[in-house]
Amino acid sequence: MAEPHDVVVIGAGQAGLATAYYLRRAGVDFILLDASDEAGGAWRHGWDSLTLFSPASYSSLPGWMMPSSSPTRYPGRDDVVDYLARYEKRYGFRIERPVTVCDVRETPDGLEVCADGETHHAKVVVSATGTWSAPYVPVYEGQGLFEGIQLHSAHYRSASDLVGKSVIVVGGGNSGAQIAAEVSEVAKLIWVTPQLPVFLPDDVDGRVLFERANARVLGNDGASVGSLGDIVMVPPVKKARDEGRLQSVRPFATIGKNSVVWEDGSSTAAHAIIWCTGFRPALGHLQGLGVLDEDGRVANENGRSLKQPRLWLAGYGNWTGAASATLLGAGRMARDVVPSIVDFLAARGER
Ligand code: FAD
Repeated sequence: MAEPHDVVVIGAGQAGLATAYYLRRAGVDFILLDASDEAGGAWRHGWDSLTLFSPASYSSLPGWMMPSSSPTRYPGRDDVVDYLARYEKRYGFRIERPVTVCDVRETPDGLEVCADGETHHAKVVVSATGTWSAPYVPVYEGQGLFEGIQLHSAHYRSASDLVGKSVIVVGGGNSGAQIAAEVSEVAKLIWVTPQLPVFLPDDVDGRVLFERANARVLGNDGASVGSLGDIVMVPPVKKARDEGRLQSVRPFATIGKNSVVWEDGSSTAAHAIIWCTGFRPALGHLQGLGVLDEDGRVANENGRSLKQPRLWLAGYGNWTGAASATLLGAGRMARDVVPSIVDFLAARGER
């Protein structure tokens, strides 16, 4: 049997890379296994016009700032992909890709990570597989009969196929708002949100939200300015709102062949439905460890599984750590998580 690694990190998106940065600094032996062909994690799948909600200085991983032509410019999807590709090259992390981990098992002296017919032995596993591969679409009667285009925001690229069409965009978060704004430029938009969407004040961006999230963690939250899920008024969203294109309606009841049907029985023709309805954590590879809750999450404290002491989670959302699914938050979380991994290994005499 090959010598076990101190740590196997599953996933080399921003959360995996931030973890790798601190593992390297702590002198821990590790590898990253990543299912993608290339660097960039979920950002590689973002739509063409996707714009971050904070400038580069608030969108950087530890050690090296995202390059930016201006402190007030908000980076786009390709800027982030390029940054992550250069980041992993800069630090020379050992990343094996494409390697898809399908199973993690407990052994008497550690964990076994099974991927594409190979087994990697680890003293500790950090799961950093994100959510992109687990898009969530709510179930509606008639959904399977719909003859138009149906896609999740995970697979939306641009509105070029939707010109002149009647398009239903479902979802009241940042994805829904950004895609609705873009679609409304070229198509007849019906924006469906469960409640009235929460637009943040125009001068509130990711910088303010990160400070708010921090203040909450520190227990000194003052006036509420909103949360990371509220809609940030990036320029295209602001323009669409100002032009009156972002009116929303409450959800339909069922879906017909070429329409959606409202609670009062009336219907609206639809050529396409775009589901901006979020994601679930991509944690199927942990099924065999018996750590998954009914909601598909792992009960954890500061990122460490409560049921499996050799397992940590990085990224995914606030349930693993404040703002852990953002670039800045991933770095902050990794900074706190890696010392606990080092302490664990040292306490067991495994380093
Ligand atoms: P991912 O980027 O998904 O990386 C996970 C990696 O793990 C991938 O490379 C994947 O291939 C790999 N993987 C998955 N399963 C396996 C497996 N079984 N075995 C091996 N490898 C696996 N964040 C910000 O900081 N600022 C913003 O302005 C911002 N704006 C956003 C706007 C939108 C519309 C959206 C949708 C997100 C935004 N985010 C923003 C959040 C951020 O982009 C994502 O949440 C982030 O990509 C998550 O990073 P991650 O490393 O956790 O996961």
